[in-house]
Amino acid sequence: MSEIKELNKTKELKEQLFFKPDHIQKFIGAEKQGEANHFSEGYKTFLSSCKTERECVDYIKSEAQKNGFREFDRDGKYKPGDKFYYANRNKAIVIGTIGQKNPEEGLSILASHIDSPRIDLKPRPIYEKSELCYFKTHYYGGIKKYQWTALPLAIHGKVVKKNGEELTLKIGELEDEPLFCITDLLPHLADDQMKRPFSKGIMGEELNLLVGSLPYLTDSGETSDSADLVKLNILKILNDKYGLVEQDMVTAEISLVPIFKARDVGFDRSLIGAYGQDDRVCAYASLMSHLKLDIPTYTALTVFADKEETGSEGNTGLESFFFEFFVEDLASKMGANFRKVLANSCCLSADVNAAFDPSWPDAFEKSNTAMLNHGAVVTKYTGSRGKSDTSDATAEFVYKITTILDENKVAWQPGMFGKVDTGGGGTVAKYIARLNVDVIDVGVPVLSMHAPYEITSKLDIYMLNQAFEAFLRRGK
Ligand code: MN
Ligand code: MN
Repeated sequence: MSEIKELNKTKELKEQLFFKPDHIQKFIGAEKQGEANHFSEGYKTFLSSCKTERECVDYIKSEAQKNGFREFDRDGKYKPGDKFYYANRNKAIVIGTIGQKNPEEGLSILASHIDSPRIDLKPRPIYEKSELCYFKTHYYGGIKKYQWTALPLAIHGKVVKKNGEELTLKIGELEDEPLFCITDLLPHLADDQMKRPFSKGIMGEELNLLVGSLPYLTDSGETSDSADLVKLNILKILNDKYGLVEQDMVTAEISLVPIFKARDVGFDRSLIGAYGQDDRVCAYASLMSHLKLDIPTYTALTVFADKEETGSEGNTGLESFFFEFFVEDLASKMGANFRKVLANSCCLSADVNAAFDPSWPDAFEKSNTAMLNHGAVVTKYTGSRGKSDTSDATAEFVYKITTILDENKVAWQPGMFGKVDTGGGGTVAKYIARLNVDVIDVGVPVLSMHAPYEITSKLDIYMLNQAFEAFLRRGK
């Protein structure tokens, strides 16, 4: 008898003292699972149609407009409940809703990114070699290059033609359109390739995109100039179909992305497989939570940034002053001191983290790694090598955010980027922190992050959306 009592006491004490982020299913019912499944349907549609930052900006702008957001007017007047958007070069966008409190009491900021790792074309991409036509490429973001060969790819891009006419390209997504592919060497002849170090299995200059194989033929079938006839044929097709000449590719932004559509993964359909979930999962969840906002207590800004995957540099990334200047303009319009606004603001850097992968346990320290289906991941710091290249949220701020999550029954778990000194990664958090804003990373765990096909959990995504909703409603 006393032994059972002792056992119960130990169990009770453990429950009281231990921290154990649990599987979400343990505390949400079938109804929530249904809501999670429903939420993921909209998310999958978004993923399948928005594969570049420009496509995301178009989508976000149009959803914002449908929900009563108007283009930000630097000469306009704003009052609580007013909704606006500000697009930066069609590659980054901010949406906002004015809150009840004076902005000097701080903003609620959600910051995600809408660019994903991919393959871009070089400025002079087209060439012919051994009667085949190719595009030269330069990869964008941190990829394992071998994953991008022997894979069906679509071309997405923006071209400004010599005559100034703008052209949006999307070729390869529809069944009856051609697609494109980077070839790899057959295993039968790959003895030398297989002896290379893994990181050099496929080299940057071997990522060449196959775009055609037939030569240009004159009506008579004869020509005195037989050089580069396959290249000529491809350029002729591009000219007939899109009015392009070779020089137009020099000015263009053209990217290659996997053609896959987002699909359910697993017999239980609990997971989502798709390209570009880092970080469109946070972009979508933050957009949906912001669109639902009525009049928040604190003015809400949701920023969707470009260039995170290449270090947030450039005038559409968060290292640029564009966001800071925008907040400054907004503050001055509302008669608020910009520095006070920033100093009192709170931000969730909405980005994904690595999910524990049981096939690669040695890369992770399990108790500090996020698990699929255990909820939104709260990442105090990212970076690498002794907490370098990261902001590190204060105890007070981590308390503030996790309390909001707990009070709103949002399942969350702490996360880290793998074992100490195995590598690392970063997010936009440090660029927001530079503005003297309190910031912490909140996202979902992802398997195969940065691969052409990434995997997330529907329950986690639903919890992330609940986390963002709770954050934007804070103070209510
Ligand atoms: Mn990311
Ligand atoms: Mn990333």
